[in-house]
Amino acid sequence: MSRIPDLSISAVVTASMCPVRFYLGKGKGRNESWRYTVAKQISYRLGDGLDADEIWGDVRLLQKEIDNSVYPLLIESVRLCRNTPGWRTYRQSDVAVRSESYRIHGIVDKVFDDEPFFAVTRPAPAPSHGVYTADRLRVTGYALCLEEMLGTDVRGGTVEYICSGTERVCTIEPIDKRKFLRALYEARRITNGELPRKPLRPPCDYCPETDRCDPAGGNRLSDLL
Ligand code: SF4
Repeated sequence: MSRIPDLSISAVVTASMCPVRFYLGKGKGRNESWRYTVAKQISYRLGDGLDADEIWGDVRLLQKEIDNSVYPLLIESVRLCRNTPGWRTYRQSDVAVRSESYRIHGIVDKVFDDEPFFAVTRPAPAPSHGVYTADRLRVTGYALCLEEMLGTDVRGGTVEYICSGTERVCTIEPIDKRKFLRALYEARRITNGELPRKPLRPPCDYCPETDRCDPAGGNRLSDLL
C-alpha cells in the first residue's frame, strides 16, 4: 500500500489547476511576490486605520528590490479598501492549521471569533462576482482543518481581494469538497511516484512552468522523468 503524504493546501490547489504544474513545481522554493506582500501588509491593517506610507515602509522592508512604480498600486488598493465599510477585526493572523484525517496543512491568513470564522487574503483582482474556483478550494481546505481543530462546523470563510478593496463570502458547497478531494488524491498519486495527468484545458497563461512544459504538444517526457 502506498503511503499517505502530508501535503500543503496550496499544493493541493495547484494540483487542482494542473497536475503537471504540481509535478514540475515539487520541491521548488517560492519567493513571495510583491503583489502578495502588498496585499498582506494592507490586510493586516484593515479595520484599524490604513496609513499608506506606513504600509509602503513595511513593504519595502520585506521586498528590498521593490520598484517605486508599485507605490501607486498600493495607494489605489488602500483607497478602495478605505471605501469599503465593515472590515472585521481579526482575533489572530497567520494561524498554522492542519488536518490529521486528510494529512493536509496550511496557514490561515486571519481567524475571527464569529462566522465566517476565517479569511484568506489574495493579491488578485476580484472576479466579477463570487470567488475564483481556486479560492473556493483554498477555503475548503482551511475549513476542513479548522473543523477538525475546533471541533465545530465551519461552513465557509471569506476571501479578501485587496487590490479591488472587497471581501467576498464563500460558503462551501458539496462540489467544492468533491473538487478538493479529487485534487488531493491526484496530488497524493503524483507524490507517490505516478506521472501527472494533463487536464483538457490547462490554465497555461500565467503558469511559471511553461519553459519546462509544452502545453501544445504534451509534456516533454525528459522533463517528467
Ligand atoms: S504550462 Fe500549462 S500544461 Fe504545463 S504545467 Fe503549466 S498549466 Fe500545466
